[in-house]
Amino acid sequence: MRAIRVRIGLFFVAVIALVAGTVRLPSQGPALHWYKGNLHSHTINSDGDSAPDAVTRWYKERRYHFLALTDHNYFTDPQGLDAFLGAKDRFLLITGEEVTSHYGDAPVHVNAFRLQQTIEPFFGEDILSTLQGNVDAIQAAGAVPSLNHPQDAWAIDAATLVRVRNLGLFEVYNSHPDTNNEWGLEEMWDSALTAGRKLYGIAVDDAHEFKQFGPGRSNPGGGWVEVLAPELSEQAILAAVGRGEFYASTGVKLEAMRRGAGQLRVKIKQESDRQYRTVFVGKAGRVLARETGVEVSYRLQPGDGYVRATITDSNGRKAWVQPVFPVPGS
Ligand SMILES: [Zn+2]
Ligand SMILES: [Zn+2]
Repeated sequence: MRAIRVRIGLFFVAVIALVAGTVRLPSQGPALHWYKGNLHSHTINSDGDSAPDAVTRWYKERRYHFLALTDHNYFTDPQGLDAFLGAKDRFLLITGEEVTSHYGDAPVHVNAFRLQQTIEPFFGEDILSTLQGNVDAIQAAGAVPSLNHPQDAWAIDAATLVRVRNLGLFEVYNSHPDTNNEWGLEEMWDSALTAGRKLYGIAVDDAHEFKQFGPGRSNPGGGWVEVLAPELSEQAILAAVGRGEFYASTGVKLEAMRRGAGQLRVKIKQESDRQYRTVFVGKAGRVLARETGVEVSYRLQPGDGYVRATITDSNGRKAWVQPVFPVPGS
């Protein structure tokens, strides 16, 4: 009788843990958790209006789990701040810099993550060589490159993005008010994916202003990523981002996400009475399916190329789920 009670007790513990989303069976690998973070922000070490500790506190106090301070051509070393404000599995500063170059009037800004010192910008002889040179400089430093606001001053077009090598991340959303962010970026993404690039899209706020808030200001909180990782460490977060195990968001939240084996499945967190539309997109930007509701999925068909999802709620908030590619040999 006692053994049965213990078994029943363990069963309910397991059910509660599964519902809480923190447990996986041993055969499925380590338990994964959602971590919310912003990978693009500025301090007074470049053109931000606040000191690194004030910027960090803004995010920590709003329950972000991680933040990258990405000053222009300056490595704001977060080590001391992380020792002071970091907290195991609760808050982490990721190393970052916005490697800031240009060709003529066209800005070429590439974020670098996981670095130890300032990476100097590269200046090329055209827009593509400038972008490629900065990506290469970041890779040579052992850091992770991410292309920022491609359409700021209409600097980077799809034809350029398609030709860049060794770039795995770009900003599909940047809430800075002057980055021409609201159209064309998904089309650029599809051009790159269709050309065989394995490119994932992040959302960021690129915040500069933490003292005054209002329309037209580059305030924090407009875009972020939610990463599914086994622990809150720079290595685990960047590895998960590199595998596409995250979504970019401006307000839509997911409860569950499953990418793999040629299938994409998500469960959207229902908030108040909002409604949700999901568009599954494949090769050349073709709409593969449109769904409503909070539990949606798509299985790749021959000729789809890949499948990614854009979710929009009835208040205009979005989430972008990263592309899934066909299983090799299938
Ligand atoms: Zn920039
Ligand atoms: Zn920036």
